[in-house]
Amino acid sequence: MYLPSFRHLIEIEAMKTQNQNDLAAIATEEKRISDLELLREKRRQNIAALDEEVKAMKLIEKQLEVESLEAKHKRTKEQLDTLNSEKDIKAMEHQLEVMGAELSQKEETYFSLLERSEAIAEEKKEAEEFLQGSANTIEDIKKEVEIERQKFNKQIENRNLRILSLEEQCLPALLKFYKEIEKKFAGKKAVAYLIDKKCSACFVQVDSMFKTALEEGRAMETCPNCGRFLIPETAKIYS
Ligand SMILES: [Zn+2]
Repeated sequence: MYLPSFRHLIEIEAMKTQNQNDLAAIATEEKRISDLELLREKRRQNIAALDEEVKAMKLIEKQLEVESLEAKHKRTKEQLDTLNSEKDIKAMEHQLEVMGAELSQKEETYFSLLERSEAIAEEKKEAEEFLQGSANTIEDIKKEVEIERQKFNKQIENRNLRILSLEEQCLPALLKFYKEIEKKFAGKKAVAYLIDKKCSACFVQVDSMFKTALEEGRAMETCPNCGRFLIPETAKIYS
């Protein structure tokens, strides 16, 4: 007497599997968006870090320092010509030497920072171009995904209607039993098929009487090992 209900359950289970596949496909599509958004966020953080680095360089301050030291050096050199005493000349020459060393060190620092700031500008430009380009891409993907999502949702909706109508055609006692087991498995696969004499989920073997009673639709059973609702696979061919 359970055979027609078993057949309905086979169809119900197949549709539930298709629903799950569709939901997984939607999730995959949505991941394309979140992956790209993650990349964009990384670029934004990168740009912010580059801006901070440039700010910390104090390039303009360093340029002014170099310029003022240069001017000072030049003035000192001019004063040198006005000196007569050898001692004074020596002292000033020493002063010029110290100043010169300081100047070339400051210049070196300044130019290496300048070089780095140019590299940063280049890196920032690339990141900004990526952000601009990907802003359009992400909009396109979102539109595509929305279309896909609607398509999948429609399919799922149709299947759910079919599932409801099949459930109505099942024997109430069997449906109740099936639903109870489903609840116990909380979202995990609650159904297995009896193929030959084995549970398709845990492969435990049942005895011949169990098998015959199930296949002839005289009993509804759970797998003695894993507790899943057992549908005789042979129910498919009785019609
Ligand atoms: Zn089992």
